[in-house]
Amino acid sequence: MFRRWGMSFWCVGIDEIPATSVQSYDGGMPGLTHTLQRVGDRGDEPYIFHFPDGNASVSRLLVRSLIPAAVPGSSMEDVVLARVDYSRLDRSDAGVGIRLNSTVVNVAHTGAGSGVDVTYVHGGNAHTVRADRCVMACYNSAIPYLCPELPAAQKAGLSYNVKVPLTYTKVAIPNWRAFAELGTDFVYYTNAFYKQVELDYPVSIGGYEFGSRPDDPMVLHMCHVHYFPDIQGPDQWREGRRRLLTTPFAEFERHARDQLDQALSSTGFDAGRDVTAITVNRWAHGYAYSPDLLWEPDWPDEASKPWVIGRQPFGRITIANSDAAAAANTDSAIAQAHRAVQEALG
Ligand SMILES: Cc1cc2nc3c(=O)[nH]c(=O)nc-3n(C[C@H](O)[C@H](O)[C@H](O)COP(=O)(O)OP(=O)(O)OC[C@H]3O[C@@H](n4cnc5c(N)ncnc54)[C@H](O)[C@@H]3O)c2cc1C
Repeated sequence: MFRRWGMSFWCVGIDEIPATSVQSYDGGMPGLTHTLQRVGDRGDEPYIFHFPDGNASVSRLLVRSLIPAAVPGSSMEDVVLARVDYSRLDRSDAGVGIRLNSTVVNVAHTGAGSGVDVTYVHGGNAHTVRADRCVMACYNSAIPYLCPELPAAQKAGLSYNVKVPLTYTKVAIPNWRAFAELGTDFVYYTNAFYKQVELDYPVSIGGYEFGSRPDDPMVLHMCHVHYFPDIQGPDQWREGRRRLLTTPFAEFERHARDQLDQALSSTGFDAGRDVTAITVNRWAHGYAYSPDLLWEPDWPDEASKPWVIGRQPFGRITIANSDAAAAANTDSAIAQAHRAVQEALG
């Protein structure tokens, strides 16, 4: 019953999750009220707060702070429907430039160590820019390949981060009468491809209104993480990444339609007729590594933790990203970015 309960959050089977984490997970686990005391109850703050486009609005707010002319408006609310003017992102006459579609392939101190050469590929051509300092904000496990001059111990610390792969499939339906008739907003599947299907969270913000009436259109959220009963530890995420990248869209679609029919067909819902659109969002490198699971060693102190060893400044290069905290959420990404910039300025 509970084997896959944590698959969308910890992305491992329940036998790898400490009981203390289960206690504090939002809402606890169904049926355990009398055996596990819940901690961290959110009271009147349910787990629904998000931007309609997810963390993209956080990025858009950051872009607006850097280049105000690129994103109209001034508040958290009005950014939701704001249209970004992409032509403003990368101008030679502006103090800040954001160059899209540019993959960094090498970062190295200059011969005299007075700067950093950053080589990136854009439009099929390699370019090198010389910077006073450089903050590496990408996936930490990629940094050893991008900065070959790093010490071996630091490379090992950075490589310890194995990102967690996961897939969010979004299904647009013309109305959510089937859910209203069944009196549910969430279906948990104990042993299926998708762990759950749920209605979008009821959040209206700025000019964006959620579909509050059953006759309104709705976006359903379905989460899939490959489950391996026989592989534990980070290896299951490496294998999950391989599976995620080799599973064709048709398979994600087939399971989405089948599982919706399983849950809703008693109301007359027919996925063949009632699905307007399906988007499969695959994060081969999704959540940051989580050290809160049962197989993590007990590190003697903070300084011994691999991700702490990995994030140390190296000359004029400092290291950010949520990986540097081994914690997936955006607050850790912001805290690590702040630390890396302070180190660069210092
Ligand atoms: C499916 C999913 C759901 C999530 N839900 C939540 C949530 O509900 N709440 C929450 O707080 N957090 C959530 N998170 C986590 C949140 O998205 C992260 O904490 C945050 O995005 C991390 O920010 P970051 O800047 O550290 O790294 P990232 O956002 O990963 O940014 C790294 C950037 O580096 C770029 N990059 C990588 N390599 C290179 C290279 N060689 N050259 C140039 N650029 C490169 C990448 O393209 C990427 O844009 C979720 C994450 C996922 C995957």
